[in-house]
Formats: sequence, structure tokens, C-alpha cells
Amino acid sequence: MVKKKEKQDNQTFEKIIPKDKLDSLIKGLNKDFKLIVPKETEDDIEFDYLDSDKEEYQFPEYQNLRVSPKKFLFPRKEVLYSFEKEGTNIKIKEKEELIEDQVIFGIRSCDARSYKILDTFFSSGKYSDPYYFSKRNKTLLIGLACNEPMTACFCTSVGGAPFSSEGLDAILYDLGDKYIFKIISEKGSAFSKYVSEYPDVKKADLKKKEEWAKSARDKIKFDINLDNIEKDLDGLFESDIWSKVSRRCISCGACSYVCPTCHCFDVQEQSDKNGGKRVRIWDNCQASIFTLEASGHNPRNSGRERTRQRIYHKFNYYLKNYKILGCVGCGRCIKVCPTNRDIRETLKAVVEAAEKA
Ligand code: SF4
Ligand code: SF4
Repeated sequence: MVKKKEKQDNQTFEKIIPKDKLDSLIKGLNKDFKLIVPKETEDDIEFDYLDSDKEEYQFPEYQNLRVSPKKFLFPRKEVLYSFEKEGTNIKIKEKEELIEDQVIFGIRSCDARSYKILDTFFSSGKYSDPYYFSKRNKTLLIGLACNEPMTACFCTSVGGAPFSSEGLDAILYDLGDKYIFKIISEKGSAFSKYVSEYPDVKKADLKKKEEWAKSARDKIKFDINLDNIEKDLDGLFESDIWSKVSRRCISCGACSYVCPTCHCFDVQEQSDKNGGKRVRIWDNCQASIFTLEASGHNPRNSGRERTRQRIYHKFNYYLKNYKILGCVGCGRCIKVCPTNRDIRETLKAVVEAAEKA
């Protein structure tokens, strides 16, 4: 598991980056790191690798991206190893792991927190997942604080904040006409040489940053106290709220695919007469076949059980097993749901049902 030490206050490193210098900072970083940045596609903005320092690139404006950057540490499909038949022998070929340091540039605070949740899951129990940590241990995060949270965002109800630097190595605060670049972790000190030429932050800049932070926080209109959510759920497993909140769900699984903290996977063999490979692929607890047994029995046979599982996993089992919530309030599941289901309404229903019980 990645362990990051926060820099001490007396070592605070904060610089002012003029807006028109951001792209040259990105170019500088791209010479030394494999860089992952938000890129405009035909109809969206997605995190992707910056191919080379020759690629034309302009940092786009965005609130948060529809798809989280989870796939750079936990790919949708990942070959774990491959094998070839040589006569009667089988030759195993180990996976070649990432050896370059990579930087995810412009990640939002909620997504940085989601990596902490994935770190916990992939290092739980007796084993640490080598495929995840081979990438995680080589990945640095430069965040971009959120000035304009989306209407679906509710990070403040699950322990986060639009200007949170938790889990980041460095963070950019957008002050409108310039950025503050602040180094957060010891690993993040590696970035100081790229910004050393810029002026130090002044008191007035920090004041402005606090104003932006407050304004961003105030834009998040949903606020719910989830301090007792684990206990609330303990008493609601058989409640009729699950039929009500799952009524519109068509089990498409979109909520789970876009979620930065969902991590269920399946392991499959793909082979032919010459050999094959073992792959790990994302799985989805909202799909009806997720728990379908060979006998035909399905312990989570309807949307009621599957919705209940999703909520219990993130807001009860995660707290019991790891002492953290399994949701960062990014709101993606709300935005993509084709039937307008809203996890915030479900959480409200849980809290209200617990109060009445
Ligand atoms: S459950 Fe929804 S709001 Fe929570 S982290 Fe996943 S996608 Fe974001
Ligand atoms: S995106 Fe909506 S309809 Fe699809 S599985 Fe999730 S809650 Fe159900």
C-alpha cells in the first residue's frame, strides 16, 4: 500500500502559476513522466495519456469527467499472465509491469480519495495485489481543486470537500486569473523543480483561495449526516425501503462501471490450441448474472437485492471491514443512470427509515 507522508507546515511549498503557463508546465512534466491528462474527444473529455511532447495539447475546462481515472491503476481488462504450448510443455510468460513513473494531472479531490479506498481494498487481508500496486506505487497525483462542483456532487457528506488535498501529491487551486501550485506529499517534492521559477504565494492569494473554497462548498446543496449510517443499515436489511428505492432500476450496471470506488472483478482464461492468457476484467454487482449459480439459483435475483447489496457494500461492509466509507460522493452514478435513480435519495430513505425504526 502506498504510504505518503504529508509535508510539514514549515516546509510548505506554494507557487503562483500564471494561467498561460499551465500548458508549458504540463510539457515540462511530460518530458520526465508518463503523463495522464484530461483530453477533449469528439463529444466528451476523458483522461488519457499524453502521447509525446510533440502532441498539441491544451488543458480543457471541466467540472469532473464522466469516467473516473480508475482504469489507469485497475484496467477494465488486464492480462495477468500468458502461456504458450511448446509440445507437451507449457511456457508461462509473466506480465510486464509498468516501470515508468506516471502522473495523473488534473484529478479532482473525490477521485484522489477514491484511490485511497482502492488502496485499502487491494491491500486487505494477507495479500497485496501486485497488479494494482505495480502501477499505484509508480503513480503521482496532481489535483485540481473544484471551483464549480456539479449538481450531483455530495463529497461533503462523505468526508470530502471540493478543495480537499487528501491523497494528493500536489494540488492546483484555480484563482480565476492564476493557479496556486502546492506540494502536498514528500513524493510531490519531485515537482518543485518544474515550478521553482514562479513567484511564491502571497497572503492575498491564500485569502482568495479560502474564498473560492467556501464558495465551492456552498454550491453543494445536498447535505446529509451519515455518522450513523453503519448502524442505521444494521437494522434495515429486511426493510421494505429496498423495494421502493430499487423500483426504477433496470440493472444496466452503468452506475457501477463509472464509479471510482467499485472494484469487483472476474478472472477468466482465454485460450486456443497454441496457448492463451489469464485476464482480469471488471465485473458488476448490479448485473443479474453476477451471483447466478450453476444450479440456476440466484441469491440476488431482483433489483431489490442488488440495490441493497450496493448500498450495504459501500456504507456498511466497508465501514465494518476497513473503517472507511466506500463512496466519495462524486455523483457519477447519479449522472449516468438512465432511469434517474439517485443514491442521495436512497441514503435519505435509509436515514429516515432508521429514525422511524
Ligand atoms: S457510489 Fe456514486 S457517488 Fe459514490 S463514489 Fe460511486 S459513483 Fe461516486
Ligand atoms: S445505472 Fe441506474 S438503472 Fe442502471 S443499474 Fe445503476 S441504478 Fe440501476
